[in-house]
Amino acid sequence: MEIHPKITPIYQSSVFKFEDLNELEQYFGEPGSRYMYSRNGNPNSDELAAAVNRLEGGAGAVATGSGMAAIFAAFMAFCQAGDHVLCAADIYGGSSSLLNAELSRLGISVTYVPFEQLNDLTSFVQPTTRLLLVETLSNPLLRVVDLRQVAAECHRHELKLVVDNTFATPVLTRPLELGADISLHSVTKYIAGHSDVTAGVVVAADADVAARLKQISTFYGLTLSPMESWLAVRGLKTLRLRVREHSHNALAVATFLAQHAAVRAVYYPGLTTHSQHELAEAQGAGLFGGMLSILLADDAEVVNGFMRRSQRFPFAPSLAGVDSSMSYPLGTSHRYLTPEQQADLGISTGLVRLSVGIEPAEELLADLAQALA
Ligand SMILES: *Cc1c(COP(=O)(O)O)cnc(C)c1O
Repeated sequence: MEIHPKITPIYQSSVFKFEDLNELEQYFGEPGSRYMYSRNGNPNSDELAAAVNRLEGGAGAVATGSGMAAIFAAFMAFCQAGDHVLCAADIYGGSSSLLNAELSRLGISVTYVPFEQLNDLTSFVQPTTRLLLVETLSNPLLRVVDLRQVAAECHRHELKLVVDNTFATPVLTRPLELGADISLHSVTKYIAGHSDVTAGVVVAADADVAARLKQISTFYGLTLSPMESWLAVRGLKTLRLRVREHSHNALAVATFLAQHAAVRAVYYPGLTTHSQHELAEAQGAGLFGGMLSILLADDAEVVNGFMRRSQRFPFAPSLAGVDSSMSYPLGTSHRYLTPEQQADLGISTGLVRLSVGIEPAEELLADLAQALA
């Protein structure tokens, strides 16, 4: 009996069989023709990598065990001991922790570049500088990096541009088309989209870099399991639909909160009052994503009251699930920055980040209205 499943089954196997030495020779002689050992490659993780690679317009991709593993692989693809990297000051807390606590031990040093200076790197570049890491939409203030301009600036200095495209997704922005060398994701977030998978993916514009990423993830053991890959592939099938709905709802929420007396500021690039609204619109294909931050009174009890009363935005420090949630940058992602760094990034007691889900918008507005009352 031949079985023809419509979707790829879960190849929950750590290893694959060979009939004889000829098949073993085929594995090494014709890369991609067979599987041998799941850390080196598995049909499910390859399916995820290929799907994201297609969406991002890359030359090759690798699925990783987390978003952090994807970021680590990107650094390892371009850097070695003695090198220096640049990193946008507005960056995911895990990325700065990786640089400060771990890559520093490997002899890779970092300089953080304030957002306003990303377009002119001259004063930050050293002879050993290899790359710049930025996020398409920054966390948590949703600043928009002009990727085409920053890519040109990087290449003028012979730096690679690595883009964490987690918040934007390829539905909004395809960094490789704008000149980035690597685009990567925490698949945990929008790519998988259902808050039930921890995974990552790293996509290269160049086939040789993609091959290096594959080698790095195999040797460091960064690769993703079959089951997690399969769940992420299933989530990915609805990415386009979800991101449209996340964006639609987030715009409704941002518009509502911008007029609310208890809200001192709303950070959402979809609002015409956002200083980079036009760039966001052009770079985001007219969509602005599902993430926004709001500034309440700088009083922990005000924030606590809002958290306790909200039913539709549970405090859960992640993002991008189909169900809404909220997070608190000062107490989670940006907890270990110095007070000065927190102040520089605009992260204060009243700052709350909302991940707007795909529930009916009117239910979300009603919940926020009662939680702020
Ligand atoms: C969550 C996140 C990461 C880290 O991803 P994990 O899957 O948690 O390892 C990296 N970058 C951004 C922007 C994120 O939101």
